Amino acid sequence: MIRVTALCTGYIDLDRASMLEDLTPGQPWTVPVLSVLVDHPRGRLLFDTGVHCLARVDPVGRLGAERVKRLTVKSKEGDDVVPQLSRLGVTPDEIRYVANSHLHFDHCGGNEFFPRATILVQRPELEAARRPGFVPSYSPSPIDFDHPLDYRMIDGEHDVFGDGSVVLIPTYGHTPGHQSLLVRGRNGAPLVVTSDACYTRENMDRDVLPKILWDAAIMRDSLARLRKLRDQTGATTIYGHDPAQWDALARSPAAVL
Ligand SMILES: [Zn+2]
Repeated sequence: MIRVTALCTGYIDLDRASMLEDLTPGQPWTVPVLSVLVDHPRGRLLFDTGVHCLARVDPVGRLGAERVKRLTVKSKEGDDVVPQLSRLGVTPDEIRYVANSHLHFDHCGGNEFFPRATILVQRPELEAARRPGFVPSYSPSPIDFDHPLDYRMIDGEHDVFGDGSVVLIPTYGHTPGHQSLLVRGRNGAPLVVTSDACYTRENMDRDVLPKILWDAAIMRDSLARLRKLRDQTGATTIYGHDPAQWDALARSPAAVL
């Protein structure tokens, strides 16, 4: 049996117009940062590791001077992923796989706390992240991902446990190798965790991209693919940073699937 639990591993304050490019700038907004835990009979997968626990006490040191002009980490002590897991009775060593949707600071901040996990990242994402400054419109976070961890580069769709139930799907565009998560339970429609391929429901419904992206045309194709999964296969869709959805979502310790 597969169980999926959504964890909110902190909050970020930013301008709503950075997430929906057609809005007028100057609309302060607080958004959740999500990680998703998948319990599978063959092991646990953690999708995204959130913001590093020190980002709220040393924002400039962790995020850099440029980023802190645009956003503020609003997490509290104990919000980050390791204490969240411990509240579920799970230690980092019990996580077999970590998958990063991408290597921005709010998705790989906790990677260093999972030294025994195999870390699954799309090849174009890790290759671009390891060439700092050479890929325009892409700002990976080396302080968060660049640790001696067991990174495994994957190419496109990747069936994590080999039974089709937990699949990483390429949704490039927000970054060079962004990926989303698809989980099929025994019954019913699948669950899709978009991460930042779609920040909020509004991005998908109105077909609006965010300001922060690597390649708009590729991102629009990925957004269309995710919309198709939602609207044609009835997939339950969890968006990357959607405060309204988070307020209504079954949250840890309750399961979303
Ligand atoms: Zn994000």
